[in-house]
Amino acid sequence: MAEFSGKAALVTGGTRGIGAAIVRHLARGGADVAFTYASSGEKAAALVDELTAQGRRCVAIQADSGDAHAVRQAVERAASELGRLDILVNNAGIFPSGPFEGVSLEEIDRTLAVHVRGVFVAAQAALAHMTHGGRIISIGSCFAQRVPYGGVTLYAMSKSALVGLTKGLAREVGERGITVNVVDPGSTDTDMNPADGPQVSAELALMAVKHFARPEDIAATVGHLAGPSGRFITGASIAVDGGFTA
Ligand code: NDP
Repeated sequence: MAEFSGKAALVTGGTRGIGAAIVRHLARGGADVAFTYASSGEKAAALVDELTAQGRRCVAIQADSGDAHAVRQAVERAASELGRLDILVNNAGIFPSGPFEGVSLEEIDRTLAVHVRGVFVAAQAALAHMTHGGRIISIGSCFAQRVPYGGVTLYAMSKSALVGLTKGLAREVGERGITVNVVDPGSTDTDMNPADGPQVSAELALMAVKHFARPEDIAATVGHLAGPSGRFITGASIAVDGGFTA
């Protein structure tokens, strides 16, 4: 039997990059998958068509992760349309950068809303549907563990908050057979951080492995945590960063 057969998953930010790779990985393993997106309606529709053609149930939901009400509604819709909810992957993200003194209040609020409050609220809503074997996995960043240069303080702060959320929540739901983990990617070739961008050589210089990850490399670790093989891993931060934090 396929690894995720009979399971239902929700991935936030599933239209592109790491999120799309996670959606495809879970669907390939037999899961029915809902995913959210911010504005890429055409990409969302194409991904739904792709997975539906493979025999999966798939739902695309436009929901801004910075809007707590929209996040709650997305979780309810996913559980209702798929009939259950076993796996939540908090992936949606943005990349604010720039000198510390120039960061505006709006940027602080927006970043924390998307990366922290949206994750908290999604987990709260999803837990109402999860039973034994449930999985909550958040996509953090290698910057949660190591910040080797300036200009990314707000981003690093928002991603390191996921470590506390993950550890605390793992303690709260462990007895219910639900695991909670955070995957911390390093440089991954996506629209957010293209492998031919101007910053590439600076990033490679900080890594042990001298190439960017593919989104599928991150999805594989998420898949391990989401499946039966991950049942004894909880409260953990897992680096998938080519040695950036080594
Ligand atoms: P991309 O920019 O390539 O894709 C972002 C995805 O998130 C898109 O599907 C986008 O939807 C969605 N999204 C963005 N903002 C929102 C929002 N407010 N509400 C709902 N959906 C939203 O990013 P990556 O794939 O590179 O990043 C995925 C995650 O991995 C992020 O959390 C990021 O911080 C993290 N990460 C990435 C690294 C990298 O090197 N790429 C390294 C470390 C961590 P839409 O298409 O509609 O815009």
